[in-house]
Amino acid sequence: ARAQIGVTGLSVMGRNLARNLARHGYRVALHNRSVGRTRSLVAEHGDEGDFVPSESMREFVDSLSRPRAVIVMVKAGAATDEVIAELTGLLEPGDIVIDCGNTHFTDTIRREKDLAAKGLHFVGTGVSGGEEGALNGPSIMPGGSVEAYRTLGPIFETIAAQVDGTPCAVHVGPDGAGHFVKMVHNGIEYADMQLIAESYDLLRSGLGASPAQIAEIFREWNGGELESFLIEITANVLAHTDAATGKPFIDVVADRAEQKGTGRWTVQSALDLGIPITGIAEATFARSLSGHTDQRAAAQRVYHGRAADAEPTGVVQDPKQFVEDVRNALYASKIVAYAQGFDHIQAGSEEYGWDIDRGAMATIWRGGCIIRARFLDRIREAYAENDALESLLVAPYFADAVAAGADSWRRVITTAVRAGIPTPTFSSSLAYLDALRRPRLPAALIQGLRDDFGAHTYQRVDRPGSFHTLWAGDGSEVEA
Ligand code: NDP
Repeated sequence: ARAQIGVTGLSVMGRNLARNLARHGYRVALHNRSVGRTRSLVAEHGDEGDFVPSESMREFVDSLSRPRAVIVMVKAGAATDEVIAELTGLLEPGDIVIDCGNTHFTDTIRREKDLAAKGLHFVGTGVSGGEEGALNGPSIMPGGSVEAYRTLGPIFETIAAQVDGTPCAVHVGPDGAGHFVKMVHNGIEYADMQLIAESYDLLRSGLGASPAQIAEIFREWNGGELESFLIEITANVLAHTDAATGKPFIDVVADRAEQKGTGRWTVQSALDLGIPITGIAEATFARSLSGHTDQRAAAQRVYHGRAADAEPTGVVQDPKQFVEDVRNALYASKIVAYAQGFDHIQAGSEEYGWDIDRGAMATIWRGGCIIRARFLDRIREAYAENDALESLLVAPYFADAVAAGADSWRRVITTAVRAGIPTPTFSSSLAYLDALRRPRLPAALIQGLRDDFGAHTYQRVDRPGSFHTLWAGDGSEVEA
């Protein structure tokens, strides 16, 4: 019998997705450019299910039942284009190509159009959860046509993570919608991680707690509303000891955060759409800053011992209160980051005509993916109550949580500023909230300046129309 689904690209992700499919009873065709990966998968895990290995792309395509469904799990970018080109030469109308790589959504829009012209379905699919998720149940965000989802949906929903009996897989929307949502997911992941990192820094440098003590604090936090995969593994990483030196693991790791690009993509897209995702942007820039080692070394030299070199120790008066304050600040900042991310999804959905259901995204992120968290249930509920919500920050549950944490939040940032501990994401998230809820913004002054130097005109608060003041003349106002 022929295979029901195929996977080409059998590095960590493809290999584990193929095993996940096989373990759920699907007959899985296998292919990889270099045959060694295919052979080792069969040698090591062939007993887990029904695999049909192939050594050439033609053999692979021939081993599939029609309509053929082929998952492409290779390096994003040019490699994916090469594999798709090779595949499309062999496939027939009605067949489905599924790109599960971390592809930029505009590439997905382009490829979907190209393949549709050839009568093929193209399903750009976001997959989150790393290797572990791919094997045991990821969160799956497929784009593409409704028709393709009719075939793929049951498969995706079977192999995805399950939360309270609901699969973490849903049809996101047409063409690039799935990869767009996966991109924003990763952006939120950047913000989440940066917030955790800032919390750690505050507890370590501000409070003077040891990594082991901070691990304990995170473990405790994981029992409450912050409960999430990232908080859980933070406790693990902080509790880990380096075998070679006996030091805390965290102290032997170079402090330069790397990135593969999805955070940057998210920020670039948000700039295009005019959505202020300040938390994600600060988190992305914080990673960049950490990598500028020459500048960091120069600044350390120049500012050492000067007044600007704030002294972190001794700033915390009440340690117990401080830990609670950091927890509250972390939760409130996290709510802001998610509110911004969901705004971004809404803006993308409107711009590209995807009609994305934000509540459904919160639902499929509850399990499988890196940002999985108890808190996503609250987001799902907020959109279930009102799917036209202006911002998650105005949903009753979140408004209460943010308001309750606001004092803590301000105290933490004040302490951080006095101690010279950088908290870009904590601080910018609070600034975002303060700006949103402010009755009058200094944007009025910006408009005045623009009108002065460039005659860009302004609107008035008391009557409609556009106006210009004759700044270089007698200062009178004219209607533009
Ligand atoms: P890699 O991104 O490291 O890619 C390696 C795979 O791509 C190998 O199978 C390799 O084949 C194949 N490949 C590379 N270039 C070509 C080419 N020109 N033609 C054919 N095949 C090629 O693998 P991962 O498993 O880490 O990731 C796969 C995809 O999943 C990527 O797009 C990644 O961004 C995405 N992803 C990864 C996650 C992770 O946690 N790693 C999480 C979510 C998504 P060969 O063996 O012959 O070299």
